[in-house]
Amino acid sequence: MALLEVEDLRVSFPGPGSAPVRAVNGVSLALEPGRTLAILGESGSGKSVTAQAVMGILDTPPAQVSGSVRLRGRELLTLPPKRRDKVSGEEIGMVFQDAMAALNPVYTVGEQLSELLRVRRGLSRSDARRRAVELVDRVRIPAAKDRVRDYPHQFSGGMRQRIMIALAIALEPAVLIADEPTTALDVTVQAQVMELIAEIQRDSGMALLLITHDLGVVAEVADDVAVMYAGRIVERATVEQIFAGPAHPYAEGLLASMPRVDRRDEELYAIPGAPPNPARLPAGCPFHLRCPRADDTCRATLPPLSPLPHGRASACHHREELLHVSHR
Ligand code: SF4
Ligand code: MG
Repeated sequence: MALLEVEDLRVSFPGPGSAPVRAVNGVSLALEPGRTLAILGESGSGKSVTAQAVMGILDTPPAQVSGSVRLRGRELLTLPPKRRDKVSGEEIGMVFQDAMAALNPVYTVGEQLSELLRVRRGLSRSDARRRAVELVDRVRIPAAKDRVRDYPHQFSGGMRQRIMIALAIALEPAVLIADEPTTALDVTVQAQVMELIAEIQRDSGMALLLITHDLGVVAEVADDVAVMYAGRIVERATVEQIFAGPAHPYAEGLLASMPRVDRRDEELYAIPGAPPNPARLPAGCPFHLRCPRADDTCRATLPPLSPLPHGRASACHHREELLHVSHR
């Protein structure tokens, strides 16, 4: 059994007109202990909303959520809010793009960590304080013993992100969900923070669900990848498989537009057009308006996510041909 199983997850919001905004349209995925699954997509693809639905942090209503989210076989979507909060709070750690919004500006980082450990783990004041120092040290903040007495604003952006990671792992969750954890940081700091997350994931055996728009990050840290477009998973593969040759034209476009050191092309490819409005999804394949391979079937019929050899899956009518051109 997978640690985290999401099945046919759908999320919609009331739209400006009569049509609801369909942000997530039937996402299924499974996360195994010790593995990293990246959800890759442009902004507006539904990847963050998927993560938020899994974490149970969407307001319901206005969000309409259906489907299934199971942690160790236990359904989370139907749990009463209090139980849900307890399960998510203790078993699912979360790291967001904006640490400043996640941290409390009026408490020191030591107080925030200690409070969490005392409330959720029943640690004594002194044990909680000791553990807080260990956690700050664990995320490689120098002079942890002193730094626990500082407030969030006294840290740099990268250091604040490390503190959010310390908070996320404080209760030793089974799953860590990181939504664009390094997007707001400088490039050099991004790599260090991503390396820290990967290292903690390896050491702890946690499962990591990583939400990102960055294929470079996927290549560096993920084992598996689910590419999202218009609220659906359009390709699911291992990272090796997708880099060897994608089985969906959208993934193909993303790869072609990725800057690479081994390619001297002056001009990078850009996928033409923009993602569809989730309140007005087109008929047929949601990618057909931007797809160089679109034909009449694509314009008329929605391709379901369908299995391919070696555990892959693609939601493209022409998936077999794509695999054939890329020689696997
Ligand atoms: Fe392109 Fe057709 Fe495949 Fe959609 S189904 S991605 S339009 S080839
Ligand atoms: Mg997002």
